[in-house]
This record gives sequence, structure tokens and C-alpha cells, in this order.
Amino acid sequence: MSTILLQDQPFEYQISRKGIRSIRLRLISKTSFQISCPYLTPEFLIQKFIKNNSTWIINHAAKINHKKSVLGLKNLKILDKIYEIQWIKTQKDSVIIIEDEQKIYSNMAIESESHAKKVLESKLKPFALKLIKKELVLLSNNFNFKYGKVTVRNQSSRYGSCSAHGNLSFNWQIIFFPYSQFQHILLHELTHIDIKNHSSKFWDQLTIYDPNCKKNNLWLKKEGTKHFLF
Ligand SMILES: [Zn+2]
Repeated sequence: MSTILLQDQPFEYQISRKGIRSIRLRLISKTSFQISCPYLTPEFLIQKFIKNNSTWIINHAAKINHKKSVLGLKNLKILDKIYEIQWIKTQKDSVIIIEDEQKIYSNMAIESESHAKKVLESKLKPFALKLIKKELVLLSNNFNFKYGKVTVRNQSSRYGSCSAHGNLSFNWQIIFFPYSQFQHILLHELTHIDIKNHSSKFWDQLTIYDPNCKKNNLWLKKEGTKHFLF
């Protein structure tokens, strides 16, 4: 691995020489890429190639959605609390979340990434619904909201929604956000019960409930989906 600065951002890269005719580039992660090139390509040509493609590298690297591997996870941050995950190989799949101890016992038969995700998600999703409902009760007590049914979904592009009848739906993975942003999403949908649009009246009202409205909204736009695991 070598390191190169592209517009002040450090990137790691690996060179793989093989029987090909031209230099190729493949992004590996947000901060690394691989160069494949013909056996006898001189170093300066590789450097020139990287420099010429630096804008492309930076733009595309920023878009890489870095989904972490679930099997390798030792802990999971849920609403600012760190839950320790213990992986136990068993015949029967089960996931036990002990909230007081901040522990997750992940008992699984098959050690494959997709299987682990499926089993873990099947337990985390109802747990998310529980945490969301609990918070909604607190917020309603504070601000006197009246909402309908609450559900969780796996909406990749949306954090939440509010129906015409005041039924609320949330992306269950918002529990991986810091508490402040999590609460902001709930308040956003609760505000929609009275104000359906995103008018200035809506934002003014939401700012009353969440004084850090602007900051939280910006964080959600920039960082939000990076915290999704599934
Ligand atoms: Zn909205």
C-alpha cells in the first residue's frame, strides 16, 4: 500500500501489474483504490494517471456507501449507547438483546454475512420499534402530540413519514444515529401531524420542539445514511 494526497485528502492505493494493455483504476473504499497496469508501466506514468483522475476518485469515493460487515462487529452503537455483541455458534438461530447490560447475544447456526444480517435484523427491527415508541410517548407527554399507528420499515432513502391520518412510519435504522438526531426525526414527523408540508411555518414549529433543528437536519443530510448497517 502507498499513500497519495489528492486535493489534500489522503488515499491509499495498491498497484497490481498484470497482462493488460492499459492502466485501470478501481475504488476499494472511501479512502483507497487499486491500480491495475501492464507489467512494464513506469512509476511516473502511474502517478500521472492517478493525478489526472483525482477529481473522479474524490467524487466517486465520497459516494461509496460503506456498509460494514455485520459478522465482524464487536459492538453496536444504539442511541449513543454501546452494546457489546457476543457471537455464539449454535444450531438454532436466536438473538437476545439485554438492554440494561447493553449486550447482544447473537446465536447463529451459519456463519455467513447475509445470514447473520437476516437474523440480527429480525431482532433489531422490533427492538427499534420499541425504542421509537418509548421516545414518542415521552415527546407526546412534553408537547402534547396525538398520533396514530407507529410502524418501522426499511426505507433506504427516507427516515420517516407521516400519513394523512397521523400514522407514523420510521426507518428502523435511525436507532444507529446519535440520540439528538434520532429525536429530531421523531419530532419532524410529529410536527407533520398538524402541518403536512415543509413550509416556513413547519420549520418554525419544529425549531420550537428542537432548538438544534438546523444542525440536526444538516447532520442527517450529510451523515445519516453512513450510519445504516443493513
Ligand atoms: Zn417532512
